[in-house]
Amino acid sequence: MPIDPDFPKNHQPMGRHQHTDKEHYHFVWGPGRPDAESATNREVQDAYKARGEEYVPLGIHGTMVAVDWDSCVADGACIEACPVQVFQWYRTENDIPGIEMMNATSEGNGENQDREGRKDYTDKSDPIREHDCIWCMACVSVCPPQAIKVDQSNLEFHERESGTFNEALSKGSAPPPHSH
Ligand code: SF4
Repeated sequence: MPIDPDFPKNHQPMGRHQHTDKEHYHFVWGPGRPDAESATNREVQDAYKARGEEYVPLGIHGTMVAVDWDSCVADGACIEACPVQVFQWYRTENDIPGIEMMNATSEGNGENQDREGRKDYTDKSDPIREHDCIWCMACVSVCPPQAIKVDQSNLEFHERESGTFNEALSKGSAPPPHSH
């Protein structure tokens, strides 16, 4: 099953993955799905076994650029397609179990251009620079399991979770600025 297009309504924010620049961060939505594409993908499952790492549902990283890590099978087409390097292979910077990335902090210095740059098939495409997205949709159309949802209007969900959402502005009913 591809990513749930209504995930911000059907899921809860489980964590916040921070960039060390303090400007970029993205939410992680859960609960994850135990029966998505990566659960039955041979390469992914073999890679978990080779590491001796438990396979667990991981949820969705990002809100406007959202990658369902349970669908993601580490194909990497998105990483190569993105013109502004929104994504990186998370394990090339933080080589830890995916579940621990829920509240991790990253510098964003992982591999971000080579689709074959994954550590192995337990790796995931991480939208570490979500706010740099230019909405070209290239990543969405190349992803084999349709694990990616890009939707600029989901900024509202991001801002609501961040506590920066402005209801009046969003309705276009903000009062005119004060003039003296
Ligand atoms: S929509 Fe385009 S710019 Fe945005 S993450 Fe996908 S490939 Fe990158």
